[in-house]
Amino acid sequence: MPVMPAHHFSKEEAEAAFWAKVTIGRSGECWPWRACRDKDGYGWAWFGDKMRRAQQLAWELHYRKPFPSGMSGLHSCDTPPCCNPVHVWPGTQADNVADRDRKGRHRYGLPTKPQMDRGEACWNAKLRNVDVATMRRLVHEGWTQKRIAARFKVSRAHVSKILSGRLWKHLPA
Ligand SMILES: [Zn+2]
Repeated sequence: MPVMPAHHFSKEEAEAAFWAKVTIGRSGECWPWRACRDKDGYGWAWFGDKMRRAQQLAWELHYRKPFPSGMSGLHSCDTPPCCNPVHVWPGTQADNVADRDRKGRHRYGLPTKPQMDRGEACWNAKLRNVDVATMRRLVHEGWTQKRIAARFKVSRAHVSKILSGRLWKHLPA
């Protein structure tokens, strides 16, 4: 039986997939990220081979340059999931604290680690349901997790999580 190849996204496709998960409004409005969010409401997106902070990726794609290293994507609008690039500015932890104090805002901190509990929302750009079904079939055919990881270009730990059901719980086994 032929094995389905892993999906490879071009940069254009990856960008389109990113913006498809943003509710793009008018220029001055907030553009919320609709997919995976962490407990503080910040968006996370798979892009290339990395999990990225959605608002920083929006800034990079809009301004066509890498986000300044060591900086966090702070929001002038105080709306964590917002991906309107003009509402995002690169700042440090100290900037964030000063900004928060100036605005009397104590509700939001800096972005935290994403919650990886919702398969489709968080991992959609990396693997699709069909890939997961294929992985499970390959296990039944005797493939090792290492070989599957190489085939799908993901980490062996990620394959392990998927196969043990800690990700993609909603899919039938
Ligand atoms: Zn905003």
